Amino acid sequence: MNGAPQVYDIAVIGGGPAGLTAAIALAETGAKTALLARHAPYADNRTTALLGASTDLLERLDVWRRCRDQAAALQAMRLVDDTGRLIRAPEVRFSSEEIGLDQFGFNIDNRTLMAALEARAAELSGLTRFDDEAETIHPDAAEVSIGTRAGKTLAARLVIGADGRQSLSREAAGIDVRRRDLGQSALTFNIGHTHPHKNISTEFHTPHGPCVFVPLPGNRCSVVWVSAPKEAERLMALDDDELSEAAERQSHSILGRVRVEPGRNIFPLAIESPGQFARNRIALVGESAHVVPPIGAQGLNLGLRDAADIADIAGQAMSLGEDPGSPQVLARYQSARRSDVWSRTLTIDIANRSLLSDFLPMQSLRAAGLHLIGSVGPLRRLAMREGLAPSWRRVS
Ligand SMILES: Cc1cc2nc3c(=O)[nH]c(=O)nc-3n(C[C@H](O)[C@H](O)[C@H](O)COP(=O)(O)OP(=O)(O)OC[C@H]3O[C@@H](n4cnc5c(N)ncnc54)[C@H](O)[C@@H]3O)c2cc1C
Repeated sequence: MNGAPQVYDIAVIGGGPAGLTAAIALAETGAKTALLARHAPYADNRTTALLGASTDLLERLDVWRRCRDQAAALQAMRLVDDTGRLIRAPEVRFSSEEIGLDQFGFNIDNRTLMAALEARAAELSGLTRFDDEAETIHPDAAEVSIGTRAGKTLAARLVIGADGRQSLSREAAGIDVRRRDLGQSALTFNIGHTHPHKNISTEFHTPHGPCVFVPLPGNRCSVVWVSAPKEAERLMALDDDELSEAAERQSHSILGRVRVEPGRNIFPLAIESPGQFARNRIALVGESAHVVPPIGAQGLNLGLRDAADIADIAGQAMSLGEDPGSPQVLARYQSARRSDVWSRTLTIDIANRSLLSDFLPMQSLRAAGLHLIGSVGPLRRLAMREGLAPSWRRVS
């Protein structure tokens, strides 16, 4: 290790979208912040549907103006039962207009979002970036010491573990995680098409999971196609013409002729829930704190709410002269995140199970639920508002 440790109020470990957002938000509070994250090109072609308050947060952090032009507004969402089963749910359509919004949110490709976050992070004088990785993390009574791959030593009163699914921070905090493989995989790719999407995101519910076409600017959509792992591998191995044809068939040609763009990825799906969100001077944000399948576009939206909450809580604690890594401050973060993360994980899990179930009563229940949401205005509006953010977080 090289010399005496460099000392920070807060160190963020991991520079995915959740970690970068947390680092910017924390540095904005005036905390002396370190970010330990490799500069590396974003590895896949995923896009993110940023819902409700997520773009408000990015606007407040001076990130959104840098990427807004490359995002597509999501003004309506359509759920189509494509299970071919005897008992099918009616088509349900949610429109942002109905709850007085211009749009539910925006779909943006992660590379563009990451570039905007990186650009903002580089401007902040209170944020020191280390193009490095944490190798060891040791919390003690007064601070956490971090040894890096390059041989540096950092110390911080609070560590933000934004290091994703295989989180070393979580392990160092002594937080257990429950993991359940879902036996499903998501194939992601982008398409161009001949008919306009009209800013409508369409979700086809198949017996193996949803296949979602989410608008991108112009006549383009991103596709998240959830299926059994073997089927995802088969689709992945198709040539461009074959996959274009398969996607067009799956979309029932609502987008006209489909042409796949270069770049495909497969993500095995799982649900991961840690026992706690913070412990031993370490607070978890993003996928170190929750992994959910891509149903209802909740994952990174939850991660951005984690980032906003830890910045508010730690920033306020420091302004009152409190230690940002103290058990009291961590307890506030735990209580701020618990209901939001657990309720969303449960809802997504139930929605996914109800789709996969061959059990007739479950199929009837699902169809009846969607029928009620589709036909009862107040229920539909409640579902839309809850989909954007939990009610207790909304100001109006
Ligand atoms: C198919 C698919 C579609 C999705 N669509 C949506 C959507 O529409 N809307 C939505 O809200 N969410 C969506 N999600 C979820 C979203 O993509 C994730 O929640 C988000 O990418 C997680 O970001 P993160 O920053 O927490 O983790 P990551 O992006 O995994 O970042 C973690 C970072 O930490 C780094 N790291 C790891 N260990 C260390 C270490 N020791 N030291 C330093 N750095 C380290 C890693 O290199 C990585 O860069 C989707 C997910 C999938 C799979």
